[in-house]
Amino acid sequence: MWVLTIDGSEGEGGGQVLRTALALSAVTGTPFRIEGIRARRSRPGLLRQHLTGVRAVAEVCGAEVEGDRLGSAALTFAPGPVRAGRYHWAVGTAGSAGLVLQAALPPLLAADGPSELVVEGGTHNPASPPGPFLEAALVPLLCRMGPRVALRTDRAGFYPAGGGQYTVSVAPAPLSPLALERRGEVELVPVAAVSNLSRKIAARELDVVRQGLGLEARAGELRELASPGPGNAVWIAAEAEAVTEVFTAFGRKGVSAEAVAAEALAELAAWRRCDVPVGEHLADQLLVPLALAGGGTFRTVAPSLHTRTNAALIARFLPVRFEVTEEGGGAYRITVHRS
Ligand code: ATP
Repeated sequence: MWVLTIDGSEGEGGGQVLRTALALSAVTGTPFRIEGIRARRSRPGLLRQHLTGVRAVAEVCGAEVEGDRLGSAALTFAPGPVRAGRYHWAVGTAGSAGLVLQAALPPLLAADGPSELVVEGGTHNPASPPGPFLEAALVPLLCRMGPRVALRTDRAGFYPAGGGQYTVSVAPAPLSPLALERRGEVELVPVAAVSNLSRKIAARELDVVRQGLGLEARAGELRELASPGPGNAVWIAAEAEAVTEVFTAFGRKGVSAEAVAAEALAELAAWRRCDVPVGEHLADQLLVPLALAGGGTFRTVAPSLHTRTNAALIARFLPVRFEVTEEGGGAYRITVHRS
């Protein structure tokens, strides 16, 4: 049997390579073998989150899988037909539930019927799409492309306790191209959230963010989230005309509330400096849906190695080509063409 061979150490060499391969293997029916999984990470191989992603996509498309063990550096994945349905996946640690969705959602967007998903794990994790980002930034854009997707955060899950949960419903439809050109007017809405920690932490974060953004003293929202363990996150939703972007920072031991708030402000500032609608992380995550739509274009910040690695891999599964052009002032345009 012919299989597409992927070198997991290429480019950014992280978990994204695996998730994109799983998603597009299921969509296109292309079997693949990946070696050197997450070779550029300090703990390479399949961690819980990645293994849950493998098993989730395997269930969705009835795949035959070899190498699906914790720590495994190689995997062979032979997909069958995608089946819409009700699925329940649990990472079992604080590993990101959002990243499991990143692998499993694309095949269900174009399945032959609706799906209902429950995914347990971390919902507010560093280096992953957090719940507020999925709800406000990514899901509305997927809906604009055709499918109806609704994502609800039932419970927050922070590192290290985990225990968060999303419920997602998907009504599939063919994806149509999207064009995100201008940012337009922006309204900034900060939120600081704590679980099982003092509200004062969130209040201090909100103060710093309000001051940094020149917002009035009552702007923004302090939330206490239900979660099995302690946790803190602060995010700024930037509601622009073309898109809502969400910039997040996470509280952790040894880092002051003020420093966490400053991190969220710095994320926002990097986006505000260039007059573009799409930030670094959203750019990564738009590539697969746009490629599935067979077209689309968006203006964004300088593409990260992560984004470039993802684009190169997508083009191995789908008949598309990504064109990246620099437009000056820190702005870039990414356009998807059929090849
Ligand atoms: P590893 O590389 O260790 O396997 P990983 O599995 O977490 O880590 P990465 O390859 O680093 O995977 O990919 C992380 C994903 O999370 C990317 O899609 C990235 O866009 C997204 N992401 C990271 N930080 C944020 C954030 N603050 N907001 C939204 N999305 C984010």
